[in-house]
Amino acid sequence: MEKTRCLIIGSGPAGYTAGIYTGRADLKPILFEGEQPGGQLTITTEIENFPGYPEGIGGTEMMDDLRRQAMRFGCDVRTGYIRDIDLSKRPFVAKDDHGKEVEAETVIVATGATARWIGLESEQKYYGEGVSACATCDGPFYKGQTVAVVGGGDTACEEANYLSTLCAKVYLVHRRDELRASKAMQHRVLTNPKIEMCWNSRVSEILGTPLDGVTGVELTDTKTGEKCQKEVTGVFVAIGHKPATDFLRGQLKLNEQGYIEIQHPTSATSVAGVFAAGDVCDPNYRQAVMAAAGGCRAAMDVERFLQEN
Ligand code: NAP
Repeated sequence: MEKTRCLIIGSGPAGYTAGIYTGRADLKPILFEGEQPGGQLTITTEIENFPGYPEGIGGTEMMDDLRRQAMRFGCDVRTGYIRDIDLSKRPFVAKDDHGKEVEAETVIVATGATARWIGLESEQKYYGEGVSACATCDGPFYKGQTVAVVGGGDTACEEANYLSTLCAKVYLVHRRDELRASKAMQHRVLTNPKIEMCWNSRVSEILGTPLDGVTGVELTDTKTGEKCQKEVTGVFVAIGHKPATDFLRGQLKLNEQGYIEIQHPTSATSVAGVFAAGDVCDPNYRQAVMAAAGGCRAAMDVERFLQEN
């Protein structure tokens, strides 16, 4: 069976950065890119807030740079994904999508998380053309404009508040008549003069044209079924994220939402020799630069672990 000192699962900024560090440490890591090579950033348009790119950079281009940087240091980057893994004893045995097994002394899980979507065809059609799942990433493109945020949790409220500092007006669209967010967050939203609540409302259609991108949303009252339209140029969907941890269920300690629990300030998980990095263990920040930092931390934790064991 093939053997490696470090198996990296996932290929966003966390996975590739872990590949760069473990590669430079001569651990000859094997990295499986997963079902979406490059991760979430490959489906965004431009990244303006990753340090080192003063003019911004395309998500795919940045991931390609990170990938090549990892390969330069001997990281064995493979197309494919890990179907299942046995973490009950070390070395761990992982099986790829072709059924081939790899034995790993350590594992870095960097499988990320994906945004939950409303499920409209128009939502996917205008993704990156007015539809976004990250206000921190895309908000600055909507300066002075009117946008809608969908959701009633802390993320939706935080995004609505942040967007209100940039935009002329923000509609916060929530399917019930009560927010799920913390009381403090609710207070900030409800007293913000730039935020208008659309209670008991669901987005039933995202309106737009191929030339202009998003031009509005159609809302349907969840109680009466009545419809109305709002003119907006951006729609920020903030109805939660789903970490890619299903294949680890029952083997690693996960929190209620399925994120991997790590032993802060390290990247150690509940299983010795298994480390986590990026969005898969971070429901709060979800930023590429944080994921990259997490990849660095996990790689350094792996090095230390291998020295001590
Ligand atoms: P969340 O708490 O699960 O809230 C998701 C929201 O989206 C809910 O209001 C839900 O409505 C709504 N929703 C779900 N599916 C929907 C659908 N198909 N259509 C329309 N609306 C839908 O998720 P989150 O806000 O991303 O927060 C995740 C976790 O991170 C939470 O524990 C949160 O407290 C934490 N967080 C904390 C902070 C902070 O403290 N600064 C910031 C961000 C997140 P219902 O309410 O009707 O279910």
